[in-house]
Amino acid sequence: MLHDKDRIFTNIYGIHDISLKGAVTRGDWDNTKDIVAKGREWIVDEMKSSGLRGRGGAGFSTGMKWSFMPKDSPLPSYLVINADEGEPGTCKDREIMRAEPQKLIEGALLAAVGIGAHVCYIYIRGEFYREAEILQRAIDEAYAAGMVGKNACKSGYDFDIYIHMGMGAYICGEESALIESLEGKKGQPRLKPPFPANCGLYGCPTTVNNVESIAVVPDILRRGASWFSGIGRENNKGTKLFCISGSVNNPCTVEEEMGIPMKELLEKHCGGVTGGWKNLKAVIPGGSSVPMMVQSQCDVALMDYDGLKEHGSGLGTAAVVVMDQSVDVIGLITRLSRFYKHESCGQCTPCREGTGWMWRMMERISVGNAHIDEIDLLEDVTRRIEGHTICALGDAAAWPIQGLIKQFRGDMEERILAKAGTTADAAE
Ligand code: SF4
Repeated sequence: MLHDKDRIFTNIYGIHDISLKGAVTRGDWDNTKDIVAKGREWIVDEMKSSGLRGRGGAGFSTGMKWSFMPKDSPLPSYLVINADEGEPGTCKDREIMRAEPQKLIEGALLAAVGIGAHVCYIYIRGEFYREAEILQRAIDEAYAAGMVGKNACKSGYDFDIYIHMGMGAYICGEESALIESLEGKKGQPRLKPPFPANCGLYGCPTTVNNVESIAVVPDILRRGASWFSGIGRENNKGTKLFCISGSVNNPCTVEEEMGIPMKELLEKHCGGVTGGWKNLKAVIPGGSSVPMMVQSQCDVALMDYDGLKEHGSGLGTAAVVVMDQSVDVIGLITRLSRFYKHESCGQCTPCREGTGWMWRMMERISVGNAHIDEIDLLEDVTRRIEGHTICALGDAAAWPIQGLIKQFRGDMEERILAKAGTTADAAE
């Protein structure tokens, strides 16, 4: 359980003053100049030893990612913050932008020092219009107070920060598609390598980080890597924002310790599953692209990267979608299949065609209008997409269906047989 003293986001619900003045009273921008003075090497080493893993879904070490940035490039380096948050079920970054914008701006300055960048772009999902307004106001305040801009925080470091609004395409949350979009092109993922650290925005060294990853940086550097790495479990360190939705009594976004048991998370912060724990049918624990888990797994699952991997799922963005017994899981996965089909950028054939095949098969299966052996055919289609595409959208579309087949094949068969029975009765 996370102690209040270890909480990073002390105003995540926006109850207190969100202005720069309010943020400063809560400890933001405290001694930032001294942290900047410690320099690039120190910041990267500290981030590495904190054990922070990227909070955007992939879970790669943030400090390690920063260390890939070249030190002797003649080209400028860029920091890009991914505020595109489009994964169904995920609603944490928007809370940071709404209620704790100064943490993000201070984190951006420190991250920029860590990677040797003097310019940062925050790429915000187009629908987050109000959040962009709030963030812009916060940036203006930070400029006016000398926290960013020339000689930021009187540290001698120049740092500029800009907001760029996207148009709400899910695929622009993929870092290279985001960079393409930022450059004014169609938001389509690039083939890798080269990776953004070598050839990113405008062909220059670039680091793309998630909003939450950047917003926790000031606290890590101020309180020390050992404080952050003292929370959570080995390889799964620190605190995390969990966003819980679906069949719970009190859906919410809450900061908790990594590795908290799923049952404790749902009962302590969400008032439990609707109808009680026994009424739980399944949980998607990390945003719509990870496989779902059934109740027996949820009984014992720990909410971190390794804890959920043990159950064949993943932490992803820590967006927990809870389903009670009344939920039609086949219908739910069908709806997600439609989403991924709609969001495919169309560059690679397995994804462009396959997401459509999967969605159409799911539509038929969801109403029982299929043959039993089509379930295996559907699984075969998912396996031919998984791992055969330029970006992870192909996997993201395939995994929920694989999870459904693994956990609820019986329900799928039942629905098909029931429909077949009805048709046979009608024929008779
Ligand atoms: Fe585009 Fe899909 Fe290929 Fe990704 S996997 S590049 S979204 S077609």
